[in-house]
Amino acid sequence: MFIDSHCHIDFPDLAAREDEVLANMQAQQVSHALCVSVNIEQWPRVTGMAERHANVFASLGVHPDYEDVTEPDVAQLVDMSAHPRVVAIGETGLDYFRLTGDLEWQRKRFRTHIRAARECGKPLIIHTRSSAEDTLAIMREERAHEVGGVMHCFTETLEVAEAAIDMGFCISFSGIVTFKNAQQLRDVAKAIPLASMLIETDSPYLAPVPYRGKMNEPAFVPHVAAELAKVRGMTVEEVGRVTSDNFFRLFHDAARLAGREEVAA
Ligand SMILES: [Zn+2]
Ligand SMILES: [Zn+2]
Repeated sequence: MFIDSHCHIDFPDLAAREDEVLANMQAQQVSHALCVSVNIEQWPRVTGMAERHANVFASLGVHPDYEDVTEPDVAQLVDMSAHPRVVAIGETGLDYFRLTGDLEWQRKRFRTHIRAARECGKPLIIHTRSSAEDTLAIMREERAHEVGGVMHCFTETLEVAEAAIDMGFCISFSGIVTFKNAQQLRDVAKAIPLASMLIETDSPYLAPVPYRGKMNEPAFVPHVAAELAKVRGMTVEEVGRVTSDNFFRLFHDAARLAGREEVAA
């Protein structure tokens, strides 16, 4: 069994095939998926997805790439995350690749999410791109270690991974780890503790080899696990089991909802 720790199955192209996407998961032994928000307008779609499917969990936040959208405040994030299917805050973080100029608003928004996560006791889903130094600095300043979380779709160095792991964060690998030019990332996957590893699709983006260039979906996450199995000298089943246990240990509300509290304990 495998768990897709980060997907956007509420996005129109995947939502239009909702039943098929869920059936494909089952056929490929993908037991659960975490559907992640990118803006406030979309929150009801994400929680709706998690209400309709017992094996889908929700996360609420506003993505750093969304510039001209309603800005969340701490109280609003805390209030909304009381929804019974919400297990995490995010995605949040910094992205200096997609956007440039004065990005103080991004840093402020990131701090808001960390404060909300600490207040409601839920882990953080962090996106960082060309901004690792500031991301780690803000995580430290805002005491993100109190809730932990995941560095999703990880593409940074081993040093950045280790700094995040020191703060109680997991490192999540996407289809990028299957790409030919991703040797540096495979080296990171080889070096970090198994107990800190998660797998994800970030679908509909970043389909793994052999689906590269196609629309991604949670059913493809075993291909990420297979690549990690190769890198670590494990079976794909072992990678599935370890990353699923890691998922439930980190997202303790998901463990409770799925009746897997023994993993979280
Ligand atoms: Zn992201
Ligand atoms: Zn995402």
